[in-house]
Amino acid sequence: MAKRPNPRAIRAARTYTIDEAALALEVSVGTVRAWVKAGLPIMSKARPFLILGDALRGFLDARRTSGRVELLPDQLYCLRCKAGRRPEGLLVDVLPQTPKTARLFGFCEVCGGNCNRMISLSQIDRIRPIFVFDFNGTKQA
Ligand SMILES: [Zn+2]
Repeated sequence: MAKRPNPRAIRAARTYTIDEAALALEVSVGTVRAWVKAGLPIMSKARPFLILGDALRGFLDARRTSGRVELLPDQLYCLRCKAGRRPEGLLVDVLPQTPKTARLFGFCEVCGGNCNRMISLSQIDRIRPIFVFDFNGTKQA
């Protein structure tokens, strides 16, 4: 079984490059890149990407917890509240992740923070009546 990275290895007040974060957490650089793709916030779009320690901790904590949180059909997982929350206005963005999965992304109606949820595309018809979809962020080919 893979060892879980320990968020306590990260100092909240400092920033990390992807390499430094991987080193501190004893995971591969590819793993940290995958976290960024999965929603770990980075501080700027320019290289080198910097990750705030506090954000990294929050992200890892959320991942530990999210497996145990049962989401209601109209909820996403809020990284800040660390709980299932409805997105503000039930507005969600759909970001395709793989050919079979997508990430719903919205803003928590309680704290305004980022909340998201992975869905399989086979579920999308079931959640379509619940949410207001905002495809603005998705470029059409
Ligand atoms: Zn929240």
